[in-house]
Amino acid sequence: METMNDNTIDLWQEGLVRFNRAADHLHLDDGTRQVLSHCKRELIVSFPVKRQTGDVTVFTGYRVHHNVARGPAKGGIRYSLNVSLEQIKALAMLMTWKCAVVGIPFGGAKGGVICDPKAMTIRELEHLTRRYATEIEIMIGPDRDIPAPDLATTAQEMAWIMDTYSMHQGKVVPGVVTGKPVSVGGSRLRAEASALGIKLVVEQAARQNNLALEGLRVAIQGFGSVGMACAKMLHALDCKIVAVSDSKGGALNKNGLDPQHLIEFKRNRGTIKGLPGAIEIENDELLELPCDILIPAAVETQITARNAPKIKAKVIIEGANAPTTCAADKILRDNSIMVIPDFLANSAGVIVSYFEWVPDLQSFFWSEDEVTWNLRMILGRALDEVFAKAESMRVDIRTAAMVVAVDHVAQALDLRGIYP
Ligand code: NAD
Repeated sequence: METMNDNTIDLWQEGLVRFNRAADHLHLDDGTRQVLSHCKRELIVSFPVKRQTGDVTVFTGYRVHHNVARGPAKGGIRYSLNVSLEQIKALAMLMTWKCAVVGIPFGGAKGGVICDPKAMTIRELEHLTRRYATEIEIMIGPDRDIPAPDLATTAQEMAWIMDTYSMHQGKVVPGVVTGKPVSVGGSRLRAEASALGIKLVVEQAARQNNLALEGLRVAIQGFGSVGMACAKMLHALDCKIVAVSDSKGGALNKNGLDPQHLIEFKRNRGTIKGLPGAIEIENDELLELPCDILIPAAVETQITARNAPKIKAKVIIEGANAPTTCAADKILRDNSIMVIPDFLANSAGVIVSYFEWVPDLQSFFWSEDEVTWNLRMILGRALDEVFAKAESMRVDIRTAAMVVAVDHVAQALDLRGIYP
């Protein structure tokens, strides 16, 4: 049986199962199925970084394009010891569906380096980032492939990539990455974009399930860029943040946790474990707590066949990418737990990246109001389309969203035809 965070779960194979289910619904021809069951380009790089001690460490990294029929490739870069080629391929495919389901003109990409960023100094991270950017330069570019932040990478890493690429080109190229600081061509609200989108998804799910926002009990797994911003935004909506966790452990308070207090504690201690005024809980306990909304916002394969039967949330909103396995999906469906899938629920990150890339190309930037208005418009339209599709097809939200996304990509492939 699957276990939580099970490294034997093959994310790429899981992605193919979900794709093939959508392809069956759409009666896709065999050629299109074959194209979309492969990644277009897979780059593996090994490169040395001189450590501050004078020693040299060789790191391995990846950059993968899944499909670019709808536009340049788009996808984050992650730093983690768990990075593997199969994982990056699966996440690149997920990016193809994410851009397609919300109708923004990008294809799917992903990248990562196998490393433990917590065990590196800031200078070592800068050297690693600049060298990795140089190694993958044969694939990236503002009209080819535009990376963004993901696990353990932030606006700072994006600024280093933008600078490295610009130095090699001999001119400033802000559009080569998104998620940059505002002062070097970043977008307002990009840092909190994923959470802003999750807030819209929470509002929609609450409406759909007749749940009042005030006092809505929310549990959040993962207290990094996405989890922290989610806690703040949902607290501002009068939801009750009953529990949060990070890689070291979690904190529970049935009367609600104060996000500002959590953020300050995490900043000082490096973890939320041991938060005063809260009950200490284990990571996997958080997933099984009684609550209305569960937001996995940490890493992949957290909800598996092992713990899915014990989940008590009414709705799961996937802030993280690929947190739920196919086997768990079936159990949750049988238990009538609504799941809003990753590539729809956390799509605001890439939507606001689009709102950064377009102004970067034009050197004319948008106000916070313009970003918020356009995000609401694009994500709201996608949510309405997917919920209507789920109802008309009588399928779960993930299947409906996959059908919408795969249909858009298949149409683009069909119209473009096969070269030569
Ligand atoms: P991050 O590195 O800022 O934060 C990750 C958090 O998860 C950290 O607090 C870490 O301690 C915690 N964590 C790790 N393993 C855990 C476990 N087993 N249990 C509980 N907590 C655990 O990363 P992030 O940028 O917030 O990304 C989180 C997820 O959201 C990832 O799946 C990422 O792919 C996805 N995502 C990120 C963005 C973005 O713009 N950053 C956009 C869309 C989706």
